[in-house]
This record gives sequence, structure tokens and C-alpha cells, in this order.
Amino acid sequence: MTKCFFDKDASLSYVKEKTIAIIGYGNQGRSQALNMRDSGLNIVIGCLDDDSQTTAVQDNFPIYSIAEASSIADIIVFLIPDEVIPDVFRNLETELEEGCMLVFASGFNIYYKLIEPPNFVDIILLAPRMIGTGVRENFINGRGFPSLIAVEQNASGFALERGLGLAKGIGSTKRGVFLSSFEEETILDLFLEHLGGLYAVRRRFEVLVEAGLNPEIILLELYASGEGVATAKAVSELGLWEQLKLHSRTSQFGQEITAKLSIDDDIRSKKNLHKIVDNIRNGNFAKDWIAEKNSGYQRLSAIREENLDHYLIKVERNLFNILGRNGKG
Ligand code: NDP
Repeated sequence: MTKCFFDKDASLSYVKEKTIAIIGYGNQGRSQALNMRDSGLNIVIGCLDDDSQTTAVQDNFPIYSIAEASSIADIIVFLIPDEVIPDVFRNLETELEEGCMLVFASGFNIYYKLIEPPNFVDIILLAPRMIGTGVRENFINGRGFPSLIAVEQNASGFALERGLGLAKGIGSTKRGVFLSSFEEETILDLFLEHLGGLYAVRRRFEVLVEAGLNPEIILLELYASGEGVATAKAVSELGLWEQLKLHSRTSQFGQEITAKLSIDDDIRSKKNLHKIVDNIRNGNFAKDWIAEKNSGYQRLSAIREENLDHYLIKVERNLFNILGRNGKG
């Protein structure tokens, strides 16, 4: 069993006298910065001169350019998109001082050695297992949220303690901070994203439309009713199999017996899942993603356009209209 740290295992004193630069004021940046400030930590924001900056100004934070914020900080927390971190890092690398700590919310750049910080800084991962809005909400309501923590480089001798201080500052040690590694976080995160969940849902939609069912009613059943959210909550609270008791006996029979793959199909399915892990571990995915970023996200823009043009989207809009939703959350 991996180690898990709670409030009693963490002390804010390791980070209280430090200047903490939050680089990026997006989903995670805003929530983590607000939580840390409410925990009494000394926060400055480093960001581009854009909408994020306007929000940070409204939230009354001291604002600097990314280079300035990094140069005055003892702790630099990178909360910008993974694929832009290498370029941003190159511009501040020469300013890093001994004893400084670099914090990442994703293992990507360190695991793939896309950046290689000097050996005199601490390098840690503090990765909330929670979307940005949830990081703030669960701080305010006092429930906390789980995170992963990992130490890649312990130059100060106190990297874990400092990392746990930050974890307490964002409110995560209330729920549990699990000891992990940059490699583990990267593989897990990417693996789940590469499973093709969106396409699987759309495939089911297409088959049921082809079978003559009403498109709006299919989408209602597949995800739009919100029932899936309640089921996901039950899974996370009761357990994958224990939550079955909330479903009808017909549903239980269908889920446990009818849906079970044959031994051969099970082996084939696992082989395909291993291929996904291999594609992440051997660096092929990372190379593809960096090349995509360097091309100006051409394939991503094209496929987004194609996917948004799918019949499912038109049906979804109709359904959302009926349900009185604007699709903007
Ligand atoms: P966002 O996309 O929400 O925010 C990114 C921030 O970086 C914004 O302020 C954005 O500014 C700024 N930014 C974008 N491009 C650049 C650039 N080229 N140079 C400088 N700043 C830039 O990111 P997230 O908060 O979602 O993710 C941040 C990190 O947290 C990532 O490492 C991610 O993997 C990790 N993470 C995210 C989770 C999530 O739920 N979102 C969960 C756990 C970890 P602008 O607004 O102008 O684009």
C-alpha cells in the first residue's frame, strides 16, 4: 500500500515564509492560488497579459510577467498547459537559484525529460485528482480532494515536507495525498485519456440510431439525464461492485452476466489496452503531441471541426434546448 498523507502529516511552516509564484491563472492556477492565499501563504501570479491576467487582477493578486514572478519566487508552481511548459521554462531557467522548488501538476515534462532542471533545485509533483473548480469548491466546503505527490529531486533535503506544506495549502491533505511518481502520474493520466471514451459513447449513439431509436431519447439515456453522474458518485463512494445494489436485478444480471466478455475477447481487449500503455511508455504519444503543438495544432483543430459537425451534436443541442440548458455549464 502506498503512503497517504493527511493534515496531521503536513505543516504549512515549510512554505509559509516563502514567495510562491503561480505560473498560469487558468483552471488549476486560479483555484490553487486562492486556496493557498486563504491558507495564509504568500502568492504572486506570473501570467501573460491576457484574460487570465484580468481575472487575477480582479482577485487582487500581485501580478508579474512569468519571468519576473519566477525570479522573485522561492517556489514556482507551473499551472500552464503541459506542451507550453518547455518554452516557458527555457526563458526562466537561467534565473533559478539554489534552494528553489519547482512544482508540477502533471508528470509529463519531467517524465519525458522535455525539461531538465538543474540539480540544485527541488522538483516535485503535486497533482490534484480534481478539476479546477472542484479544487476551490472542496476547499471552501472543507471536504478537500485527493492529490498525488512525488519527489523527483530533493536538493534541499526537505522537498517532500515542502510539497506536503503546499498540499495542505491547497486543501488536499484534508482528503488524502498519495505518494506516487512522475512516471505513474503520466501513464495513468494519459492512459485514461487514450481509451476513447468519447468515441465509445458516440458509437453507441450511432448503433442505437441505426436500430431505429429516437436520437434525443438515446442521448438522454447515454449521458444527458445526469444519471451517470449519480452512478459515478456511487462508484466512488460505495465501490465498483457494491454500487450494483442500487440497480435493478435485471440491470445486475445484464451488467454481470450478459456484458462479460468471453475469455478470448477479454485477452484481446487487454492486449489492446497494453498497446495504449506501450505507446505512452515508449514516448511515441509524447513525440506526436509535441509535433502537433509545433505544427500549430492543425490536426486537433481539423478533427474538432469534424467532430462538432457530427449529427450527435445537433441532437445534443436540440435536447439541451428542451432541457433548458445552454451547454455552457
Ligand atoms: P488551463 O488551460 O486552464 O490554464 C492554463 C493557463 O496557462 C492560463 O492562464 C493560460 O492563459 C496560460 N497559458 C496558456 N498558454 C500559455 C503560454 N504559451 N504561455 C504562458 N501561459 C500560457 O490549464 P489547467 O489549469 O487545466 O492545467 C494546468 C496544469 O494542471 C497542467 O499541467 C495540467 O496537466 C494540470 N492539471 C489539470 C487538471 C484539470 O482538471 N484541469 C487536473 C490536474 C492537473 P490563457 O487563459 O490566456 O490561455
